Amino acid sequence: MDRDRIKGSLESERERLQKEIQEFEEEFSQSMEEATEENMYDQHMADAANPMHNREVDLSLEDNAKRMLEKIDRALEKFEEDSYGSCDNCGQEITEGRLEAVPYVNLCIDCERKLERG
Ligand SMILES: [Zn+2]
Repeated sequence: MDRDRIKGSLESERERLQKEIQEFEEEFSQSMEEATEENMYDQHMADAANPMHNREVDLSLEDNAKRMLEKIDRALEKFEEDSYGSCDNCGQEITEGRLEAVPYVNLCIDCERKLERG
């Protein structure tokens, strides 16, 4: 497994996501400015009346992007800790095939299934 390559792709993916999230925020600020007389930039506006018909779609996309970004941040952190490739929950090695498919995965398949089931 080429860790440098994986790290590089995680870093560029992180950049892309940060940009995407920023664009969501900017788009939202702009639409809020148009919709209200006040300038509101903070996240509390997400709870307020929804002037944009597609805001909910944006929100879930933004949410996905943020969640993915968290995983990527954690994966990059694990490179620093030299623990990349091991499960955050049980410490077992994550299979290479799994890491190749989803390089920012931080749990082994067993733990992920367990945690997803709750
Ligand atoms: Zn595990």
